[in-house]
Amino acid sequence: MIRVAINGFGTIGKRVADAVDAQDDMVVAGVTKTGPSFGCDLAARKGFPLYCTNDDPDRIAAFAEGGYNCKGGLSDLLAAADVVVDCAPGKRGAENLSKYKAAGIKHIFQGGEKHDLTGLSYTSCANHEANIGAEGTRVVSCNTTGLSRTLVPLFEKCKSLKVECTMIRRAADPGDSSKGPINAIKPVLKVPSHHGPDLMTVKPEIEINSLAVAVPTTIMHVHAIIADLPSGHGMTTDSILELWRSTPRVLLMSGSGDRITTTAEVMEMARDIGRKWGDLHEVFVWEDGVSLIGDRLYYFQAIHQESDVIPENIDCIRALLSTESDWKTSVSKTDEAISSYYGM
Ligand code: NAD
Repeated sequence: MIRVAINGFGTIGKRVADAVDAQDDMVVAGVTKTGPSFGCDLAARKGFPLYCTNDDPDRIAAFAEGGYNCKGGLSDLLAAADVVVDCAPGKRGAENLSKYKAAGIKHIFQGGEKHDLTGLSYTSCANHEANIGAEGTRVVSCNTTGLSRTLVPLFEKCKSLKVECTMIRRAADPGDSSKGPINAIKPVLKVPSHHGPDLMTVKPEIEINSLAVAVPTTIMHVHAIIADLPSGHGMTTDSILELWRSTPRVLLMSGSGDRITTTAEVMEMARDIGRKWGDLHEVFVWEDGVSLIGDRLYYFQAIHQESDVIPENIDCIRALLSTESDWKTSVSKTDEAISSYYGM
């Protein structure tokens, strides 16, 4: 059993904890919170051992005052685990990395950290093998994970891809009251934006640039993608759809036939299928929005930002601990376990 510590039990951390709990080859060693709050109730209900994000005795004692059983500080948790999944807010990485190195524990960061922190990044379909046995890595952001799901299989088929995409980003997560905009469209003025090129940290062979705007919605990101295939690629719109249909964690549905024309309906469908929090781990592609004209492919995809990286974290744990060398085997194990955990 791989013992997994989860440092930071927020939007991503609580989902990673559930996904770990769903697997038969790993167990939640513990989760951390900065102090007593409603999130501790969730940990208690699930039976996940609760620790403090640091070792300060006053901070640890504050949990008991709030009515929670805190088992100790971060160092105690790291000593009881084989790997830590860092789910702290972005840009805390450097500080936390030094703690993980001091504890001699394998570590996985999230997309809020830069690739340079670990010098290695991860998505299941792009570079599982390159991460096997590594000491530390970074599961790329929700946007990069989504790009990887559709572009990597296409690249494997065509052997060359030049991509331009526009990321239409949700302004905040549903539980986030401190971000915006709430009545504006906010372009990222650093062009190209970092989002598309981040894909090259896991698949450097794909040439990609992006523009990004934030819009007043909380539920999903949408990508508008233009990809140039090499001449003589031999693909058609139908064969690309077929390729994606047989690709794990890509969900194709139709705007006209399924009447899913906006991200609101995508999320309603996700709530219907019964995953907790209404999550959708798959990248959603509108099949009637895919069109190959000559060598140029146009398509839209939607990303459930809070959840598409969750199963990737599970595969990444197996890569670091060298317990599964084949990414597709890990992906089916992860996804089947999550599905049966939620009775789907
Ligand atoms: P969050 O704010 O929802 O949760 C972060 C948790 O970490 C909170 O419980 C917070 O109390 C705790 N925390 C605070 N300081 C800490 C510290 N020093 N050490 C450990 N924990 C600490 O954040 P999130 O949205 O879950 O994001 C976590 C990471 O995942 C970030 O790198 C983010 O960029 C990335 N990510 C987020 C999303 C998303 O849509 N929310 C998607 C993909 C990746």
